[in-house]
Amino acid sequence: MTPQYLFYIIITILCVNFLKDQVLSFLNAQHFNDAFPEELNDVYEEKDYLKSQAYKKTNYKLSVLSSSFSIVVTVLFFFLNGFALLDAYVREWTSNEILQTLYFVGILIIGSSLLTSPFSYYKTFVIEEKFGFNKMTKTLFFTDLIKSGLLTVILGGGILALITYFYQQTGSSFWMYTWLLIALFSVVMNLFYTSLIVPLFNKQTLLEAGELKTALEKYSTENGFQLDNIFVIDGSKRSTKANAYFSGLGPKKRIVLYDTLLNDLNTEEIVAVFAHEVGHFKKKHILYNFFITTLLTGCTLYILSLLIANPILAASLKIDIPSFHIGLIVFSILYSPISEFTGLVMHSVSRKFEYQADNYAKTTSNPEALITSLKKLSKNSLSNLTPHKATVFMYYSHPTLKQRINNLRK
Ligand SMILES: [Zn+2]
Repeated sequence: MTPQYLFYIIITILCVNFLKDQVLSFLNAQHFNDAFPEELNDVYEEKDYLKSQAYKKTNYKLSVLSSSFSIVVTVLFFFLNGFALLDAYVREWTSNEILQTLYFVGILIIGSSLLTSPFSYYKTFVIEEKFGFNKMTKTLFFTDLIKSGLLTVILGGGILALITYFYQQTGSSFWMYTWLLIALFSVVMNLFYTSLIVPLFNKQTLLEAGELKTALEKYSTENGFQLDNIFVIDGSKRSTKANAYFSGLGPKKRIVLYDTLLNDLNTEEIVAVFAHEVGHFKKKHILYNFFITTLLTGCTLYILSLLIANPILAASLKIDIPSFHIGLIVFSILYSPISEFTGLVMHSVSRKFEYQADNYAKTTSNPEALITSLKKLSKNSLSNLTPHKATVFMYYSHPTLKQRINNLRK
């Protein structure tokens, strides 16, 4: 294969991926005006339904605009030899390979977030604001941006530096050390995410004693679930949308309820949502997810190790000196069709897990309460009740509301 040929393969992958996304969202948009399935006709009132349609259409337009913009910029960057220029710059600044990698990747990330931030600003302060979801102040928006930027620099930069170091020292066996490092990092993150990272962005408080706490404790005792930590998180400072999730491993496990959830649902409904989360725990979904992800990471790194030293990767971008960072960029694009496929498999596994957690909630709590809570949550987030099948298949980590209700009533 010639470098020129590889270059065109890269461009083709980028464009096909873009087109695939556009076709899927277009198909999905064709269903925005569908009538409700019968099970769902009590979710929205007429005026809320009109609002939800307007919300979907507005978001659709913005996503077409932002993805078209980013594909044009990306392809231009390739054709104008942006990578070769950037590579030459970082080589002038330093001869240290680790620093070269950090500068190179860092500048690309800063550049792309400068290009995407205006869209996310518009989404938050124009669209979400208009539809009444946004609670975020501009100060909060920018402090969030700065904090997550710093986290990326410290954690992402640290890991990238270590991986480059492994590559320098061990050549193609770097993948094993990297695999170990990433597995270790995700265990640590699982354990300490809620106690170290979340507090940077949100306040978490223990659920106060009262009717709800008593009900949740009663449910836990009856179902043999050891409950040490129920936290309430102040999600309301950013958005009115509600959520609940499970995090941590072993003694660090905790259930986190959004304060918005406590406002929108009654006690029986929250117990049912809680039962769904306990279902994920009882069926060991967190553990399975960890193992599948770790296995996939290992495979990806192994394939990366086979290709990364090949000088054709750099040559395809008109760069003479092969390097770790150029290898990473080219590989990430060449690998993306495979990761699209594994993503699809992961989503289908995730939908299966959601059914299992719903089934657990069905047998241990009141399924009708889970149904009304799901309906309230869908209504409050103006979620799409009639998505296209292909979109669900490709992107949905949860079954649709209709599918979940049918399953809960089965
Ligand atoms: Zn779930």
